[in-house]
Amino acid sequence: MKEVGFKKEITSGYYLDPFNGFQEKKVTIELRYDETTGVACRILPYRVRPAQKPDLDEFLEKSPESLCPFCPDLFEKITPRFLPSMIAEGKFKRGEASLFPNVFPYDQNNNVAIFSSRHFVPLNELTPGMMKDGFAVCRDYFHRVVEMNMGYKHCSINWNYMPPAGGGLIHPHLQTIVSYKPTSFVQRLLTSAQNYAAAANGDNLWNNLIALEKKADKRFIANTGSVCWLASFAPKSMAGEIDFIFREKTSFFDLTESNFSEFLSGLSRVFNYLYISNFASFNMSFYATMTNNNYFWVQGKIVPRFVLSPLGTSDLNYFEKLHNEIICPTVPEELCRELQPYFKDLL
Ligand SMILES: [Zn+2]
Repeated sequence: MKEVGFKKEITSGYYLDPFNGFQEKKVTIELRYDETTGVACRILPYRVRPAQKPDLDEFLEKSPESLCPFCPDLFEKITPRFLPSMIAEGKFKRGEASLFPNVFPYDQNNNVAIFSSRHFVPLNELTPGMMKDGFAVCRDYFHRVVEMNMGYKHCSINWNYMPPAGGGLIHPHLQTIVSYKPTSFVQRLLTSAQNYAAAANGDNLWNNLIALEKKADKRFIANTGSVCWLASFAPKSMAGEIDFIFREKTSFFDLTESNFSEFLSGLSRVFNYLYISNFASFNMSFYATMTNNNYFWVQGKIVPRFVLSPLGTSDLNYFEKLHNEIICPTVPEELCRELQPYFKDLL
């Protein structure tokens, strides 16, 4: 089986250590590069972690229900509606969940979905039942877009949960994007998968990645039904990255309702892990094609986000923003071992 392009190199630095009588100290840094994603990162031998949960009360005080556009008082008055050609009712609804156009769109078709009228939902309460309808309205919307036959090819479901991850509102909400062209990162994944197939007698990159990671037994977290969960070899965030891949699903419309349940079951376990580990924020993206693409399997990523006390220091710095390399004090193989117990009943 052709390797999937994980590159690793070790480099060392030296200094005289003020905490040990200025004795010579060796520091080892592991440079990693993933040919599939193009992500370069540096795994550092020390762990920087948010030791304490951020003060969530502060967020709640600054963003009360009374000012929230997604809470019941303001919701119908100040959230946009779709043109009637999309949906006569103006919004997609299921139970308490609702999907409507983003008032500050990033793209031609950028919508927001809320799960319920509940203003703040802590990470450990993001259960499959709580999230189900929010993801279902995204599916309903994608199905409607296809019905309208406008030739869109790519879709994504995205989540900035809480302000450290760029969330502008604490009321949990997803964002969907439907487009003709993929984003540059998704384009990278598509190109890598095609190149891999060309070099490996037509083999599917994701199939081989899962098989190799399972065999290596270092970053393979678990399966929830058809969904495989991995700790990324070269993470896109300081606190590591958790990947999910839907086996053999080559379009969003291959996914059944039970595939979504399998996904939400895994997602809630990841959230539980984050909650217990004192994280309070994450980004998630779920990438899919809207027509069958045999090179690409529906998949996505979750990255924990945090700010460092006492200054509220960002987890992004010049290295990531301007050099396109990630400083990662979280060892992916350790992240995997920490996550596995949360999936234990499935193994
Ligand atoms: Zn709210």
